[in-house]
Amino acid sequence: MRKPIIAGNWKMHKTIEEAIELVKGIKEEANKTDVEVVACCPFTVLSEVKRTITGSRVKLGAQNLHWEEEGAYTGEISATMLRNIGVEYVIIGHSERRQYFHETDDTVNKKVLKAIEKELKPIMCVGETLEEREGDKTFEVVKTQTLGGLKDVSAAAMKDIVIAYEPVWAIGTGKTASSEDANKVISYIREVIKEKYDDTVSEMVRIQYGGSVKAANASEIMAESDIDGALVGGASLDAGSFVEIFNF
Ligand code: PGA
Repeated sequence: MRKPIIAGNWKMHKTIEEAIELVKGIKEEANKTDVEVVACCPFTVLSEVKRTITGSRVKLGAQNLHWEEEGAYTGEISATMLRNIGVEYVIIGHSERRQYFHETDDTVNKKVLKAIEKELKPIMCVGETLEEREGDKTFEVVKTQTLGGLKDVSAAAMKDIVIAYEPVWAIGTGKTASSEDANKVISYIREVIKEKYDDTVSEMVRIQYGGSVKAANASEIMAESDIDGALVGGASLDAGSFVEIFNF
């Protein structure tokens, strides 16, 4: 069976003091659950968060990386640097990065491959915009993004990859996809994985839903057959609400 994974995506929030307070507020509860709990923090707080969660079950995640090994890439952070700090998961290809920082399926793929090479676990995001949904392009878009991001990724590496289905129109808007709708798209992503790899990989790969997940809708979302977790933005910034979500 697939182990549920609930990841907080803090985006560009939290100073060091605020970050420590937040993880202190979740780590005891995280120790009591079998759900995998991940905090995807800004680069500047990773070290302190790592120190604070050591000895607990909370896993450390980052929100981006660069695909090059090292070199003259001002402002960028490499996979090796993340590993060095104790990062285990890394969000790749979030729609905000695609939208504001020109990430494409090709750069997402380079990042996924580098993450795997360095033994970081990618949380690879896919999802359609409102315009694409209204134009009946949801399935086409998630297929292209899934296959584009997973180009040259081996079946063996898939055990460490998490896919996050995040309809762009549901992010930070308070509009959630209905859990049934989200499950339909996620089942379809599983089909795409099955076509590319096989049954075993498609049954094993964990696929999260993301987009306005909160305490009030987490249990309904998590009850769906193909949804294995959530990528939580706004509601992960408050310890109480994040705890309620991972205790769905
Ligand atoms: P949200 O963000 O939960 O605030 O909608 C989700 C995400 O962007 O990962």
